[in-house]
Amino acid sequence: MTYYFPGRMGIAATQEDYGLRAHLAGSGTTEMLSGPGRTASVCPMLLPQNTQATLYDGFITAGGKEYRLRIQLPPSRELKSARIDCDWRLQLVLQDKQDIFKQRLEQSPDLTTFLVELQNLLEQTSSQQSSVGPPPQYFTKLVQEIDKLGWDRLAYIDPSFKSLQVQCRDACQREHILTINLHNQYPQMTPTCTADLPGKVNFKWSQQDSLQGVLHQFEKALAQYQDFWDNMKELDKSTWVLEPEKPSYKDTVRRIALGNNASVQITVDPAHPRMLPECRFLGADHVINPIKQSLNANLHCWDPRQTLLPNLQNVLAVDFPSPANSSKEDFNMACSICYAYRLGEEIPDRACDDPRCSRPFHTTCLIEWLRALPSTRMSFNVIFGECPYCSKPITVKMTAAR
Ligand SMILES: [Zn+2]
Ligand SMILES: [Zn+2]
Repeated sequence: MTYYFPGRMGIAATQEDYGLRAHLAGSGTTEMLSGPGRTASVCPMLLPQNTQATLYDGFITAGGKEYRLRIQLPPSRELKSARIDCDWRLQLVLQDKQDIFKQRLEQSPDLTTFLVELQNLLEQTSSQQSSVGPPPQYFTKLVQEIDKLGWDRLAYIDPSFKSLQVQCRDACQREHILTINLHNQYPQMTPTCTADLPGKVNFKWSQQDSLQGVLHQFEKALAQYQDFWDNMKELDKSTWVLEPEKPSYKDTVRRIALGNNASVQITVDPAHPRMLPECRFLGADHVINPIKQSLNANLHCWDPRQTLLPNLQNVLAVDFPSPANSSKEDFNMACSICYAYRLGEEIPDRACDDPRCSRPFHTTCLIEWLRALPSTRMSFNVIFGECPYCSKPITVKMTAAR
């Protein structure tokens, strides 16, 4: 005897396609089933599909919901050998109830009894699953608190009043949003807060606290990142930032165009934004090697009293191309293999080292290209091959692939 829970309703599938499947052992005695008339009194929307009344199709109603159901009885009309197909919602409701389901199927003397048992089972399950909303005092407290905060600061509140977004301005009039998720037992239970910040804020909460208290902690957190955001803003305004495409307040990394398909990726410490950031150079060796040498030679010139931009230009001995003197199209060069700039999250980060070629590639594209060629060799994690354009030797580190 087998029953089935098909993945999708009404689609004939092979046995392997069914999400849940179980075999029930034992032959059992032949049970004569009740006629379609009795079945209709329990499930009026589950209709017999043939004159032998061995195939039923339609809906079973339980807990105010309708579930699609199809029951195929064997010619012997033995209930234990019935094949039962349910829609995905019914499948979901029954997924923890397989044992009871099997037991009911085995023990019911006829189809009508089984349908009654199934309805009871579904009603129990759905009443357990329906979540209980917050108590009335929750709403009273919440409304009072928003009154104090000012409704104009509320950027969003979800229909269940469980999640809200509050606006906040920092000292430089930058606008921030704090998302607060409340528990049904608010204020006994700590709310969870999320915001677009480069670091984590450990919100402290006691039952006497209010949303205003949370917001106050958020404002204090904003204050400590002012210099970080000022420094990043200066970079975003005065250089071509290739990545991220649209920097947000939490982003501590910038990939800045250097020209000639080269770029530098800097990782800034938000707590110490004026310290020398971690630098990673991307591009052809003949372009980036002199810049790396400048960095090593000029490290002592780094002046933490200055902002990041002049410091970086100083130690790298470069003038970053900027929106004032160039267009972004000059720098976001498409990959020479797939002809696209963005490949999912990836932008071209490998270039041919031959100065006459210097074509940019996505690491992923280059690896795929080189692997297809018989002349390519691999040693440890490095692939040695030829540039698809100029045939000069080119290497790619496998670990660099994202
Ligand atoms: Zn590509
Ligand atoms: Zn090349």
